[in-house]
Amino acid sequence: MKKLFALAAVATAALGVLGTTAHAQAFPDGKPITIVVPFAAGGPTDRVARDLAEAMRKPLEGVSIVIDNAAGAGSTIGNAKVARAKPDGYTLLVTHVGMATTPVLYRKLTYNYETDFEYLGMINDVPMTVIGKPQLEANNFKELREWINKAGGKVNLGNAGIGSASHLCGLLFQSELKAEMTTVPYKGTAPAIADLMGGQIDLLCDQTTNTTSQIEAKKVKPYGVTTLKRLSTPALKDIPTLDESGLKNFQVTIWHGLYAPKGTPAPVLKKLNDALKVALKDPEFIKRQEGLGAVVVNDKRVEPAEHKKFVQAEVARFGPVIKAAGIYAD
Ligand code: ASP
Repeated sequence: MKKLFALAAVATAALGVLGTTAHAQAFPDGKPITIVVPFAAGGPTDRVARDLAEAMRKPLEGVSIVIDNAAGAGSTIGNAKVARAKPDGYTLLVTHVGMATTPVLYRKLTYNYETDFEYLGMINDVPMTVIGKPQLEANNFKELREWINKAGGKVNLGNAGIGSASHLCGLLFQSELKAEMTTVPYKGTAPAIADLMGGQIDLLCDQTTNTTSQIEAKKVKPYGVTTLKRLSTPALKDIPTLDESGLKNFQVTIWHGLYAPKGTPAPVLKKLNDALKVALKDPEFIKRQEGLGAVVVNDKRVEPAEHKKFVQAEVARFGPVIKAAGIYAD
């Protein structure tokens, strides 16, 4: 009897393996894939995810890919949602540097960035811009600095929550200027830039993928880019770097990556990583990203293990800086 049970167990296990393999071979079997974006619709992470979804469709046999904006708490709500999702390849996550900063900043995370995700690869690197509301009198960085000094703490600086890219950039900006501002958190920088254009907040540091068209349309005032060299994108090429304006070595670029829940079958992960690689070589995708100031990844960080190593190194890089700043969230 015991033996029978044992045999049944072996058979069930074998069926399980067969089931997984068959599932992996069939993937994607026509069922839509959901990419969770842990920030608001219309913002930089959302845009990258939508462009990537478009470019990954073809190599994934034309499957439809839908975006689920699970925004809030500096990306930790959306990240947790994917960590708990069924690991079948139909729920993925596109997020950014927050993957590496939130483990240091949040005391009560319900997921582990190392053990709850399968790393699929890195997507791009995006510079940031410091922009102001159109009503600001300051027309360049020098005038902005004077205005900030006069305002003495009354400057409202938007961000996308603790651990977001805008939060990090804003912290660095305040520390370099030796000025304290009132920070206003949003669920993403799409609602923040809308409020900036409306004059409800004064300043925002955000990825060029969100600010380029607004700068071009003169709906916001640009004060500096966060790279050491000026950008080549036509709409951004005349904006001085913060470094050349006197904030020496001010440098922030924001990477984005693609992830799946831990336990997603290896053949499914392989198909997704292959599709990611095809997307990152897609001329339309590259053109669109470059037009918004982003650099599409073209190195070993597109490999899952290399991307994971890179994120671990980012945690080690940001950890001490964040701890020294003494900022935490529950
Ligand atoms: N740009 C945002 C950030 O500051 C995120 C977003 O809305 O995509 O992290």
